[in-house]
Parts: sequence; structure tokens; C-alpha cells
Amino acid sequence: MDDCIIVGAGPAGLTAAIYLARFHLSIRLFDSGSSRAAMIPCTRNHAGYPEGIRGTDLLALMGKQAAKYGAHREQTKVTAIVPEGDTFRITTDSGAFEARTVLLATGVVNHRPHILPDVHDPALERGLIRYCPICDGYEVTDKRVAVIGTGDHGTREALFLRGYTRDVTLISPEAEHLLNDACAGKLDEAGIVRVQGPCGGWAIEGEQLALDTARGRMWFDSVYPALGSRIRSHLAIAAGARANDEGCLEVDDHQRTSVPGLFAAGDVVKGLDQISHAMGEAGVAATTIRNLLSERQPIRR
Ligand SMILES: Cc1cc2nc3c(=O)[nH]c(=O)nc-3n(C[C@H](O)[C@H](O)[C@H](O)COP(=O)(O)OP(=O)(O)OC[C@H]3O[C@@H](n4cnc5c(N)ncnc54)[C@H](O)[C@@H]3O)c2cc1C
Repeated sequence: MDDCIIVGAGPAGLTAAIYLARFHLSIRLFDSGSSRAAMIPCTRNHAGYPEGIRGTDLLALMGKQAAKYGAHREQTKVTAIVPEGDTFRITTDSGAFEARTVLLATGVVNHRPHILPDVHDPALERGLIRYCPICDGYEVTDKRVAVIGTGDHGTREALFLRGYTRDVTLISPEAEHLLNDACAGKLDEAGIVRVQGPCGGWAIEGEQLALDTARGRMWFDSVYPALGSRIRSHLAIAAGARANDEGCLEVDDHQRTSVPGLFAAGDVVKGLDQISHAMGEAGVAATTIRNLLSERQPIRR
């Protein structure tokens, strides 16, 4: 029986692994290998790296730090978490395990526009497609930018990016924009151009990303999809944890879900979807897990 099983080895799960291993607890760290952080060509807003750092390099450094204290990432997908009294039974692709506590750090998956991977992936690498204005809006300062989206979400993202550049176009993913008067008014007031989709014909052309819209072919320095995310909270919800309407797990200020002994941290929890936030939540979760276990049975050397 392990003290804690961590599901997910992104920034949240790896931070928790470092803390928990250094608390002298027995842990396992299961990961299916699709961290959002691995998609980051170079993060420049994560403190401590003045020249920026590639997402995979940051994950590798964190993994190395966790391994130094005995926490090794195991490549496997967790398929069920079942509370059994004070403990949990965790089923994975490679077998079943028991743990006193579980930390879910499974993150989210961004919805993408219909772009073939052989265009999407090089465009992401070159910053022609971006998913996180908070992270990298600075990099599009005074550039020509499009947001693929509509409604409140698309409007919010376009207005946010207007803080970096005058040249923002909001393109509906499908044929019609779904904008109420309030959204339309704010977009007009900010000088944000509205174009209808459907979007198609994506290609890298020169230094820009090109796509077809109802207004013909258009070219942009960067395109931000604002199409929402799939929250990977289903394992916790099936175990009885409460989530909001979007599927983000509800936690208290110690990262406890509504299921005793089941914790959550990072993007899977409602909050700022950022590396720093994921790490902070994981530190809080790990310390609370340590103290909970110590209450049940004092941790002594
Ligand atoms: C293109 C892009 C650029 C970004 N740039 C920045 C930036 O510059 N700065 C910044 O702060 N943030 C940035 N972000 C956001 C940042 O990547 C996330 O906030 C961060 O990765 C969240 O960490 P996490 O640990 O919660 O989730 P993730 O990093 O997504 O990790 C979750 C892990 O859980 C695993 N998992 C999921 N389900 C299971 C399962 N059933 N069994 C086993 N494992 C499972 C996944 O495989 C994954 O490895 C960016 C995101 C994107 C997409």
C-alpha cells in the first residue's frame, strides 16, 4: 500500500512528487504522456528562466529532481480510482494498486480547430498557433493576430489580446458568429474586426499562417484558438468528487476534493491554467497529504 498515488506527471504532478518524496513518503507517479507543458516551444513567463525554457526541458528537469529523491514516473494510464473505506484502489493499464491518498493532476486538453497535424505542429513550434494569451501575449505585441472563437469566450480572448496589439480579428470557427449585443458592442468599441468562418485551408505561407474564411484567404502572424478545453476530471468525478459545470474539480484551499483523501491540483482544478499555479497548488496538496497521513499514523524516523 502506497502513501500516495499521483495521477499525471505534468508540472503539478511532478512538483507533488518532489515534495512527497522529500517527506519520506512512499509514492507512485503514473503518467500517460500528454502533458500540455510538453507542447510549449519556449515559456518566457515562467519565473527563474530569463532566457525562457522549452516545456519538455522543464519537465525533464523536474523529473530528474523527483527521481533524485526516489520518485520515478511510470508510463501507464490510470483507468479507475475507487474509494474503499480510508484507502483507494487504482486501476491502470499495467495493473491494480492501493494507496492511502490520491492526487489527481491530469490537466486539460485544448480543443483544436480542424488543422492537420502536419500544419498544426510546425505552426505551434513557430508561434504561428498559440493557445495561451496570458503566457505568450507579450510575444505578439504589435503583430497581426486572429482569435478563432465566438460568444463570450472568443470575445474575452480577443479583448485580452487587444492589450498587446491593435490588429486583432475574431473569426468564428463555423459559418455564423454567435455574439450577443453586449459582446458585439465591446468588440466594436475595441476596434476588433469580426469575420465569419468556416475556417479551412490552413497552411504556413511565408512567415504567416493562412486560412480561408467567408471573407476569403487571410494571413496572420499568430492565431489563437479559443475553443475551450476537455477537462480530464472524469476519474475523480466517477469516484464521487464534485466538479463545476465545465468539469473542473472543486477543491478547498488545501486542494481537497469532496472525497476524503482525494486531492487535485493544476489545470484539472478551476483556476489560472499556468505552470506556476499548478506548482503552487501541488505544493499545498502535498503538504496537506503529508499532514493527513501523519494524523492517521505519526510520521517518525
Ligand atoms: C501551447 C501552450 C503553451 C503554454 N505556455 C505556457 C507558458 O508559457 N507558461 C505557463 O505558465 N503555462 C503555459 N501553458 C499552460 C501549461 O502548459 C499548463 O498550465 C500546465 O502544463 C498544467 O500542468 P498540469 O500538471 O496541471 O497538467 P499537464 O501539464 O497537462 O499534465 C497532466 C498530465 O496528466 C497525465 N494524465 C492525464 N490523464 C491521465 C490518466 N488517466 N492516467 C495517467 N496520466 C494521465 C497526462 O498525460 C499529462 O502528462 C501553455 C499551454 C500550452 C498548450
